[in-house]
This record gives sequence, C-alpha cells and structure tokens, in this order.
Amino acid sequence: MADLVNELVWSHSRARAFSGCARAYWFAYYGSWGGWDAGAPDAARDAYVQKKLTSRSMWTGTVVHAVAEHALRQVREGFVLGPVEMAVAGARSGARRDIEGSQDGSWLQRPARRVGFREHYYESPPSEADWGAAIDEIERQVRGLWDNRLFQRLCAVPARIKELEDLRRFRVGDVDVFVVLDVLVEDGRGGVVILDWKTGEAHNDADIAVQLGVYGLYATQELGVPDDRITAMHVNLRLGTESRHPVGAAEIHQAAARIAESATAMRSRLRDVAHNVAVAEDYPGLPVGAPACSYCNFRGVCGRR
Ligand code: SF4
Repeated sequence: MADLVNELVWSHSRARAFSGCARAYWFAYYGSWGGWDAGAPDAARDAYVQKKLTSRSMWTGTVVHAVAEHALRQVREGFVLGPVEMAVAGARSGARRDIEGSQDGSWLQRPARRVGFREHYYESPPSEADWGAAIDEIERQVRGLWDNRLFQRLCAVPARIKELEDLRRFRVGDVDVFVVLDVLVEDGRGGVVILDWKTGEAHNDADIAVQLGVYGLYATQELGVPDDRITAMHVNLRLGTESRHPVGAAEIHQAAARIAESATAMRSRLRDVAHNVAVAEDYPGLPVGAPACSYCNFRGVCGRR
C-alpha cells in the first residue's frame, strides 16, 4: 500500500481547531501524524493517542449518532426497525464496555477503534453514579430518537436516504473539503433535507450557519440540488427540540468564501505549502494558565498536565 500523505484538506472541524489554540491544531493535524504506526516516534504516538481522547459529553453524542446510523442502515437494507428496548440494551452494554476498556487501559491497543476518556487518562475518574448518569442520558436520547417524528419518517421512506454519515471529499476553489452529513434525504419534490442530530446543550448559531452552508455547497455542487430546494433541520435529542435553518444561495456563497479565507490562513502558517510542512515552533500554545489547557486533549504532550 502506498504511504499515506498528510494533505491539507479543509473541514469544519479543522477550521474550528485552527481558530483555537495554534499548538493544539498543530498536534491534531501534524504532530500526531503517523502515530498510528507501531514504529512511530514516541512524541507522534503520544499525540495520536491524545488526539483520540474523548469526554463523557462528546462520547454521549458519538454513541447516539452510532445508534441512529446503525438503525437507518438497517432499514435502508430492508430490515424492519427493531424495538427501542433492543437499541437501548445494545447502547447501554456498549457504553459499559467503552468505560471498562478505557478504565483498564486496553483501549490503548487500538485507540482508533476503541474509546479512551480524558477522565481516565488525565483526571481522577468520575464516580460510578456519574457514569451511571451518562449511560442514563444515552438511553434517554435513544428513546427520544425512536419517538422523533423525523426519525420515524426516515424509517418509513428509507430509499430516499442518500447520505448517511458518509465521508465525502470535494473541491472548493483551490482546496479539497471533507464533509460528513448525518443524513441527507430526498424530499420527493426535487429537493433535499439535511438532518443533523444534536446531542449537547449549547450550540453557536454562527458556527451552525457555517456548517450548514458547507453542506449546502456540497449538495448543490456534488449532487446537483438547486440552491432553493435545500432544507436543513437540527434535531436536539438532549433538549427534545427541532429547528429549521435557512440554506440558500446566500449561505452557500458565504460558506465558499469562508473556506477560501480559512484555507488561505492555514497555508500562511506552513513552512512549505506544496508539501504541507508545518513546524511546531510556528504554532504557539496559549499563555500558561489559560483555562482551555485544563481540558485540552494535548495537555500531556504539551507539558501542561
Ligand atoms: S495544553 Fe494549552 S497550550 Fe497546549 S495545546 Fe492544549 S490548549 Fe494549547
């Protein structure tokens, strides 16, 4: 197999990382590169492992998204949606395995595939009651998913689901872009609905607008959907709310401009743009004592444990 090449491919999460601590961005996209390899230098291996760390709230979202994806794949393949009790039991037992594998360190054998919590790696582990509350929250959100009218509608018309957590790469101007849509479904009238499951409490409206604009750009450019036929819906499974967001020509234009501006800024820091070479010294950390360091994944390799 050919060697993997570290390319600068724009994504919403990369842009968000770039707008935060520069050193954390460097660890995530350069310092950890190759750390999956058994023969990697210790620094790259450590950065790679730390990149994979999650927190309880992030993990809740990952588990619930995986349940939604699995259920919709099943119905798309012709199976009947199983009872919620079965989904809940699977999510709860998987969650327990995640916690145990993180606690005993066995996740480190396969950090890309298994779950490692920051709480075990760096901090004093939460109490059993806190883990129990996190698992109960997962159950609550899975039940909310089964009760949600949009989820039920998807299960009724599975052939219309065109995208389901699929990683896509496409070109915008002079940079490639990655997107992963939770769900993109045809509306039966020549348009599409982009559905996003939200599992946390707080979301930034400006951040959401950029993300949806990028999805709209993908739908128009790669799927040929007219820009006035896109609807975006957020279903917040934690709060039990739904919201509709505009995605039209203006949002799509703004997204393309934002990608160009952000990619230019990312390249401006590189020592060698053609080969995507970034040097740690060009990516300073936050001032010592910055609050963000206390929950940063990379506080170990950064020397701020
Ligand atoms: S520990 Fe602080 S300075 Fe270091 S990478 Fe994380 S946020 Fe940046």
